Amino acid sequence: MHHFDPSTELQDYLVFGEYGGVNPSITDSSTYTFLSPERMKELFDHEVEGCFLYSRHWNPTNKHLADALAKLEDSEAAIVTGSGMSAIACAILQICDSGDEFISSRTIYGGTYALFKNLLPRFGIKIKFVNTQDLNAVKKSITKKTKIIYCESISNPLLEIADIPALSELANKNKIKLMIDNTFSPILISPIHLGAHIVIHSLTKFINGTSDCVAGCICSSSEFINQLMDINLGTAMLLGPVLDSHRAASILKNLHSLHIRVEKHSKNALYLAENLERLGVKVYYPGLPSHNGHKLINKLMNEGFGYGGMLAIDAGDEETADKLMKKMQVEKVGYLAVSLGYFKTLFSSPGHSTSSEIPKEEQEKMGLSEGLIRISIGLDNNIHKTFERFKKCLLEVGLLIK
Ligand SMILES: *Cc1c(COP(=O)(O)O)cnc(C)c1O
Repeated sequence: MHHFDPSTELQDYLVFGEYGGVNPSITDSSTYTFLSPERMKELFDHEVEGCFLYSRHWNPTNKHLADALAKLEDSEAAIVTGSGMSAIACAILQICDSGDEFISSRTIYGGTYALFKNLLPRFGIKIKFVNTQDLNAVKKSITKKTKIIYCESISNPLLEIADIPALSELANKNKIKLMIDNTFSPILISPIHLGAHIVIHSLTKFINGTSDCVAGCICSSSEFINQLMDINLGTAMLLGPVLDSHRAASILKNLHSLHIRVEKHSKNALYLAENLERLGVKVYYPGLPSHNGHKLINKLMNEGFGYGGMLAIDAGDEETADKLMKKMQVEKVGYLAVSLGYFKTLFSSPGHSTSSEIPKEEQEKMGLSEGLIRISIGLDNNIHKTFERFKKCLLEVGLLIK
């Protein structure tokens, strides 16, 4: 089994501020001085450790956050970006030329789906959407032009679990990259440790955890990260999705409480999932033995962080789902809002929001019901009270008979 513990890696990651501050100083500069023109030329030729040129390239605060994220994901290196979407776009465009292909899971975040389905084909990149739960289907879709297999470790919104070791084996055999979006399961699944080559995150969600900014990252080999930041050919450098250093500093502080938060999100989610299922509600949660990925996640997860804070319930039809969500907001179960990983519970119906980019017939194929509600469970200290409120809402919309 796995003995990788990201929380210990982060615990050991210490950086001092410029004046010995317990938090690293925030770089408030877009550009950096040089003592000599020769030194500047040197930096244009190759990277010089600890030397900074211009903040779209690297800046010290973003470097601290990136280094901490590399510890979290057990990768050689990382970069941070202005959003999760820009991290995905930059990583894909760094690898794929016009005429190349890649394989993507069909159950992915709606924005990613739209990027792959609508925008990337304009640049001659071909995407094959495949059920990545079916390893044979993935294998059959690989051609000489395939460069990447892309999927989410815990998929949006049905919370299917990717068999990362098996996909990695397939990728390695064919000399292609396995790229994993680990946004739903930071700290509890470590894709690089399991064989992935590239991990991306929307830091906007659990990693930051306070729903006050948008940010992303790419974790991978030093070679790939250097390619992304290359002055002449790097997508992150030349498309320029740079994260502001003040934000990087605040995300870094939040990152250090991620292990406690994920543990609590997971504990609350499991409590609700078990009790809702007991009431007869159709619940999707990887921590439940009834979930199709339960056995697999037990093999893949790091110990001590639970099964994550995301769950989904099926209210049957759209009208009931809408009524239920309205009630849930009034009864203070949480907020009717997209996004996830916040300290308060957030819920929305994917079919009409975060997955609405996916055409109706595709949604049906992937088992996405009209009545599905995706819920990001908050850090409520009295989850029993939350459950009682939830139950009241279910009763009022007629989902419980009693
Ligand atoms: C939110 C999200 C993204 C996009 O990230 P942004 O920070 O909003 O750009 C990508 N993947 C998943 C799984 C997400 O939840």
